[in-house]
Amino acid sequence: MRTAYAFFSGLVLGAVTVLMINPSRAEARKRDDVLPPSRPVTAVPLSIQLPSGLVMPVLGIDPSQLHDNFDGLRSGGRVHGALDIMAPRGTPVVAAVDGTIQKLFTSHAGGITVYEFDVPAEKVYYYAHLDRYADGLSEGMHVSAGTVIGYVGTTGNAPPGSPHLHFAIEQLMPEKHWWQGTPINPYPLLAQASR
Ligand SMILES: [Zn+2]
Repeated sequence: MRTAYAFFSGLVLGAVTVLMINPSRAEARKRDDVLPPSRPVTAVPLSIQLPSGLVMPVLGIDPSQLHDNFDGLRSGGRVHGALDIMAPRGTPVVAAVDGTIQKLFTSHAGGITVYEFDVPAEKVYYYAHLDRYADGLSEGMHVSAGTVIGYVGTTGNAPPGSPHLHFAIEQLMPEKHWWQGTPINPYPLLAQASR
């Protein structure tokens, strides 16, 4: 008799517990259906995949906005050997290709910079004058094309009133030193529109 009672009260208790839990779950489900998603939907412009296989390294830049300044002369008679992409300070800078963050380096000329190797480690992609790095960016990290790695700024020798990304591509030497390569003009690779 006691056993039966214990069994029966157990059933009742179980049923009460189910009743207590279930309405709240059902309510939560209903609320999820009715309310808009809790995560804010911000208008982040998508990165543009170009016919060259590269992704435009500055978000929101159209290929038609670029101007070839690869051969421009710089101080000391040096050739620029890169592409300057003008953009408002703080505009996200994204990896142009899948690859590895090889070096995070701060220099007098380049300011806050990123050196990224592509996956076969044939080329190094250089992003300079950054305002800051993306949170959590670290050396050795694998990034996909389009991953935010930093933000446009004027660190280094960029004029404070002309924030831009200094973007360079170099063919690596057999030694694969991140600081050593043969410059390739990024302009034809980025200026070709995707449509
Ligand atoms: Zn430059």
